[in-house]
Amino acid sequence: MALTNLQVRDLETVLHPYTNQATIRDTGTLVLERAKGIYVYDVDGKPYIEGMAGLWCTALGYGNEELAETAYEQMKKLSFTHLFGGKSHDPAIELAEKLKEKAPVPISKVFFVCSGSEANDSQIKMVWYMNNALGRPQKKKIISRLRAYHGVTIASASLTGLPANHTDFDLPISGILHTSCPHYYRFGLEGETEEEFASRCAQDLEDMILREGPDTVAAFIAEPVMGAGGVIVPPKGYFEKIMAVCRRYDVYMIADEVICGFGRLGEWFGSSVLGYKPDAISVAKALTSAYMPVGAVMIPEEMYQATIIESKKTGTFGHGFTYSGHPVGAAVALKTLEIYERDRIIEKAAAKAPQFQAHLQALADHPLVGEARGVGLVGALEMVAHKPTKKAFEAKAGLGAYATAIAQEEGLIIRNLGDSLAICPPLIITPEEIDDLFDRVARTLDRTL
Ligand code: PLP
Repeated sequence: MALTNLQVRDLETVLHPYTNQATIRDTGTLVLERAKGIYVYDVDGKPYIEGMAGLWCTALGYGNEELAETAYEQMKKLSFTHLFGGKSHDPAIELAEKLKEKAPVPISKVFFVCSGSEANDSQIKMVWYMNNALGRPQKKKIISRLRAYHGVTIASASLTGLPANHTDFDLPISGILHTSCPHYYRFGLEGETEEEFASRCAQDLEDMILREGPDTVAAFIAEPVMGAGGVIVPPKGYFEKIMAVCRRYDVYMIADEVICGFGRLGEWFGSSVLGYKPDAISVAKALTSAYMPVGAVMIPEEMYQATIIESKKTGTFGHGFTYSGHPVGAAVALKTLEIYERDRIIEKAAAKAPQFQAHLQALADHPLVGEARGVGLVGALEMVAHKPTKKAFEAKAGLGAYATAIAQEEGLIIRNLGDSLAICPPLIITPEEIDDLFDRVARTLDRTL
């Protein structure tokens, strides 16, 4: 396929994140120009259903005039002020108030960042800081999970439990450990019930804490449903058992709600859907429906008190980004949350979930699909070479990437996570559009076979 002039210029200049640099020159890039509703359009005007809400983030879809107006008005009014040293502004204050009001657990303060990676990086720094403040400097290890995704900065990439984020980046850093992944379809044993599998995962965590020494383990971090690891929905009872272990050994619990927050699973926070009561929460993505890069770290009183203790020691809480609480980002986030409430976006997403999940489950019968799984308006189809044995395709077959290329021909953007095809449309998708989306998924699977 001959590359267009724009594609050639792109490949001459842009290093694309999360892209196979060895093959991108052959496949070329998809250059997008505009978007409206759930559709994005390429430079030739071809429409695609954005079946991944960008990267799990454009909950309100594209071209939302209210959000654009809000950004424009805030840029004219106060385009920037930072929050360092006691400066503040109305949108940041109101946004923090709103996040505290919506939080599923008691939150003392909200610390603003620009991305999910920065949120989780900040969580780790704060945990270390808190345990120093509390006079327990040996309690520093953080436990994450295999296949978790928490970002790409040095610390958050260390939390991530995927090989491509570690290999030859010399990660993970020491003190970050990975316990088992709660993927029942892949890792459940022959004859083991979901409940037994959940108990085994909790036992793995407890064994790890005991092996390391409970007085050295500071925190456990988890996404309610693992996103980039393959849309992995934990087995029934999983978080209840995991929480009991964490509480037993005084291990601080962080919920990474970067994907699951703001309605993706059918409630404001995914942890509520999965019965997980964290101490602290990371959010980003749908906080602004991706109209601006904004994230937040929501912390409990105990953590806030630690920042006071340390400030007395060193003269300041020595952490913060230039753009922490950027006024334009804060104003857009606030408006996004207002729209979620006013237009009952989250309740409506929950009401559409049964239709979405029924479509997904109907595809479980497809000869290529080993498992269909999901919650709310997110799901995945795991493609396998042999259904009865769950045998995976050879990695080098690159079936997932092949399927997403076919989907693109069908006018559908989905994402392959290995051989699992992830589907995560904007929450504003209509029932008719859900039908259309899954028709395209079905055609993609038939053509991939
Ligand atoms: N945490 C989760 C659960 C994510 O899915 C992501 C990104 O996909 C991140 C953190 C990192 O966010 P960002 O890419 O904004 O740094």
